[in-house]
Amino acid sequence: MQFRDLQRQYQMLKSEVDQEIREVLVETNFISGKQVSELEEALAAYVGVKHCITCGNGTDALVLALMVWEIQAGDAVFVPDFTFFASGEAPASVGATPVFVDVEEDTFNMSAASLEKAILKVTKEGKLTPKVVIAVDLFGQPAAYAEIRKVAEKYGLWILEDGAQGFGGRIGEKMACSFGDISTTSFFPAKPLGCYGDGGAVFTDREDWAALLKSYRIHGKGDDKYDNVRIGVNSRLDTIQAAILKVKLKALKSYELEDMDRIAGRYTEALDGIVKVPRVNKGFFSSWAQYSILLKNKEERDGLHVYLDRQGIPTAVYYPRPMSRQKAFQRMDCRKTGLRVTESLCQRVLALPIHPYMEEEEQDEVISKIKEYVTALR
Ligand SMILES: *Cc1c(COP(=O)(O)O)cnc(C)c1O
Repeated sequence: MQFRDLQRQYQMLKSEVDQEIREVLVETNFISGKQVSELEEALAAYVGVKHCITCGNGTDALVLALMVWEIQAGDAVFVPDFTFFASGEAPASVGATPVFVDVEEDTFNMSAASLEKAILKVTKEGKLTPKVVIAVDLFGQPAAYAEIRKVAEKYGLWILEDGAQGFGGRIGEKMACSFGDISTTSFFPAKPLGCYGDGGAVFTDREDWAALLKSYRIHGKGDDKYDNVRIGVNSRLDTIQAAILKVKLKALKSYELEDMDRIAGRYTEALDGIVKVPRVNKGFFSSWAQYSILLKNKEERDGLHVYLDRQGIPTAVYYPRPMSRQKAFQRMDCRKTGLRVTESLCQRVLALPIHPYMEEEEQDEVISKIKEYVTALR
């Protein structure tokens, strides 16, 4: 059994993917080919924002957004304590200070109450200027943007939506990657919409920011590539990846998201009450980048991890360590404040295999082995 079976997906999409790749090889326009702008248009239309600017990966996408806002040393950027490292690495890499905020146990996403506390603390200390909230759509579910936006607007902060895991999710009819003032995603192979290498994108409704993003991603270009008006980076999505993503976006829209949601529903129905299952807020739709359960404690979690591994069922611990306890952040004064939920999640969380091409028998096997393990404990 595979944790996320990219081989089965490729076999399903092979003829179309191969054809698209062959076309790029024949045209040999490996950088900035027409497939890149075609994909950007398709992504913007799907997400429902005016501009999509693709780039080299999801981490660069975050950095590019922070460059647009000129975030720098002395600025505070609020980041959930429970997320992938890049969410905090991006602000640190432009010289700003990530300030870690606790999350909600049920959804794994940023707590608006904890955000407000952290903003007040930073303001009171007076050393840093609060500038940006990076809200992460963790495991596929959009963060609670109504509550987070209320707090962000109260204190005059921009919202940067890190939708690396959230692409395809929504709240009501509003799609993930449309909730931030700027939003980003990643096309790393294992993400909900993955390519066959690295890739990422930035989304915004603002024309002026879109223009800046297009400049920053190609060496701060002006009118052309050899007219450089600001210091930028080199971060483009290459044409082959764009061609692959065009095919994969169609599959995601037409059946993959629904199939994932059905599998998640089966897990939840079978495992509710046996372990703690993830909660999807009312009116929210998750793209299920991960299906993560909670065990009672670290011992139980580690035990189940090993037990399932022995049965040939791969599981993963996302994430074993709070951001605020990562060594890389220790020399920065990142202002830890009561990040108790994150501490507990890191001990108890376990992600189960899930992908759109998973057979019912495989799902049933995962379910029955978990039941077996937990019943033997109690
Ligand atoms: C994967 C991920 C990123 C970074 O994306 P890359 O394309 O790997 O650079 C950023 N934030 C979150 C939450 C992620 O899961």
